[in-house]
Amino acid sequence: MDILTPKIVDITAEGLSLSGDLTGDELGLADTDVSIRGTVAIGLDLRAIERTFYVTGVVEGTAIRQCVRCLKDFDDPLAFSLRVVYEREPKAPVSASKRDDGRKKKTATPPEVEQDEPNDDLYYFTGDQLELAPMLREQLILASPMHPLCSEECRGLCARCGKDLNEGPCHCAVDQTGSPFQVLRTMQEKLRESGSR
Ligand SMILES: [Zn+2]
Ligand SMILES: [Zn+2]
Repeated sequence: MDILTPKIVDITAEGLSLSGDLTGDELGLADTDVSIRGTVAIGLDLRAIERTFYVTGVVEGTAIRQCVRCLKDFDDPLAFSLRVVYEREPKAPVSASKRDDGRKKKTATPPEVEQDEPNDDLYYFTGDQLELAPMLREQLILASPMHPLCSEECRGLCARCGKDLNEGPCHCAVDQTGSPFQVLRTMQEKLRESGSR
């Protein structure tokens, strides 16, 4: 079975476990989304309660990110858990929902599953299988830091000459007060001066 397109008939209340290693291409990740080194390991548990499919799982791998300070690519360990819900697209064609009419049982409340938790992202499906790739792609993007740093201590680039200060001080640092705060302050003053005129 394809891990990314499980058939809903295979997802029962007992659950269906899926796991595999997937490339960024298989997950539909564009270069602008997240770059994956090699593959990501994905382990998912799917459970059907009534007509709702609960998906929990973990994603582990290595992302290649660009440091916002020094602009270098670096390997960023990736590990997060996800918890989402799939429901049939409200206006599904009649033919698609016929299949499992036999076990329709609308009145029962799902046992021991917290419904509608705010952190359960909701996805829709049509037809007879779930499309997990768009969900995984979105979760991978959501799990990405807004401002990736190769290291908390990254010194970044010199605002003046562009040298990577992790590799050592540049000549500007000798001439000037080397502190990045000084550079920032000077920039702010310049901005303020030009703004007030
Ligand atoms: Zn950096
Ligand atoms: Zn410099």
